[in-house]
Amino acid sequence: MIVIRGGTILDGTGGAPFAGDVAIEGDRIAAVGAVPPADAIEIDATGLNVAPGFVDLHSHSDYTLLVDPRAASAIHQGVTLEVVGNCGFGCFPVRDAELARKAIYGYSPDVPIDWTTAGGYFERLQKARPAVNVLSLVPNGQLRLATVGLAERPADADELTAMKELLRESLAEGAWGYSTGLEYAQEAGATEDEVASLCAAMAAGGGLYATHTRRRDEGAADSVAESVRVARAAQARLQVSHLVPRNGIEESRRSMQIVEEARGDGLDVEFDMHTRLYGLTHLYAALPPWVLAEEPSTQVELLRDSTARERMRPHRSILSAGDDWRRIVLLDNPFWPEYARRDVAAVAAERGQDPLDAVYDLLLGAVEAPERLMVIIHAYTEDEQREAFAHRLCVPGSDATTLAPDGPLADTWFHGAYTWASWFYRFMVRDEKLLTPAQAVHKLSAQPAARVGLSDRGVLRPGARADVTVFDGARFAERGTTFEPNQFAIGVRHVLVNGVHTLRDGVLTGEHGGQVLRAG
Ligand SMILES: [Zn+2]
Repeated sequence: MIVIRGGTILDGTGGAPFAGDVAIEGDRIAAVGAVPPADAIEIDATGLNVAPGFVDLHSHSDYTLLVDPRAASAIHQGVTLEVVGNCGFGCFPVRDAELARKAIYGYSPDVPIDWTTAGGYFERLQKARPAVNVLSLVPNGQLRLATVGLAERPADADELTAMKELLRESLAEGAWGYSTGLEYAQEAGATEDEVASLCAAMAAGGGLYATHTRRRDEGAADSVAESVRVARAAQARLQVSHLVPRNGIEESRRSMQIVEEARGDGLDVEFDMHTRLYGLTHLYAALPPWVLAEEPSTQVELLRDSTARERMRPHRSILSAGDDWRRIVLLDNPFWPEYARRDVAAVAAERGQDPLDAVYDLLLGAVEAPERLMVIIHAYTEDEQREAFAHRLCVPGSDATTLAPDGPLADTWFHGAYTWASWFYRFMVRDEKLLTPAQAVHKLSAQPAARVGLSDRGVLRPGARADVTVFDGARFAERGTTFEPNQFAIGVRHVLVNGVHTLRDGVLTGEHGGQVLRAG
């Protein structure tokens, strides 16, 4: 038995904190309150908060957990469960491994895709012994890549039947719901009817529909309305992913209004938001699909050709919203170190070029490994964050992969990985005082756990699974910054995952207790 003694208990329900102990027997919580002295391993929680392990409802760690199962960036923030398969990205089902890579975050040839089904992936992941618990939605991007491929058109009747079959099979093997990423190339051809039809096939089992909506700048609120229509037609529970759009607080308010009205009309809908003020993508996202579809050598020819450039120029991409290239900032990269951490407008001015010509030239210099030329897109404001995170229907999520500052993921950047929960608590509780500690813990535990239908996690009560985080409410904060992101958060002292002591006095123990959770 383990007893966490003398802490302030925030049990996840949002109710008032109280002084007490938490006893753990095996992988379950045995008692919460005053625990008499016992023959047990004692963890001193004097002056610390004791809370349920945090739940990352919007994770992209599907694949990086295979690369480095320690999930160090997450454990150091008290995270004990990652919900993956979001935004239509994920690791199954796989028909063609080369194609499937296009909808997997952080893919590297070092860990080959040696599975095809949800069940195969879950087994492979459990074998990797993750430090955190993991459950997955079925990603629509992979359903489409496995049937329609990269063609930008609706699925035909046979393809839709095949997609439904793959979806049902994935759910039967233990996936928890269904997600779309309709803004991405592999799903852009999916019609509202196609998505509703798949969503209905999923919803019969009561699962969650999580959607990265079709448009996240102009037309963002209309896209939220589309997701409401889909969920209603399919009778599905709806989670609007990272709801705040990239085009300002008014569109954000309209989007929240649509969610509230749908909720008022009886739809079970909530939303989430990541914690960073920018998006992260590749500079090559500025290129139109007809260029991206070509082999690298042909892409070089096109980028060198002034006539081809004129054809590319009108393409509206995730980078071009508002035509304000000051919002696009180049990250550290091996090709153009002199331009790292500077915005495209400044770089273009220095080169005496139009911004798009500068972008095309920078891409020509990065043809060897275009995925290593990344940019951030400044798109959100703190005012938007305050409104979203204070909303009762909103929970935070990382929208990132788990990382570690040493090992195979040391040089990978994914903003939010090290900072999401710690930033959320520091900003919303201590700095802005918009949430009480109990409310913030609820948004980090019981509320997201309930979205995926878990009632034995996200709460501290006898009988619940022993996912527990012990943290210093006065110190819990992020350290990672925009250009030095890979630094552990501070303030989390102990983390237990299924009763396994994973972080002790702020240091990883090397013990891994994570389970791949299968629905049903
Ligand atoms: Zn997304």
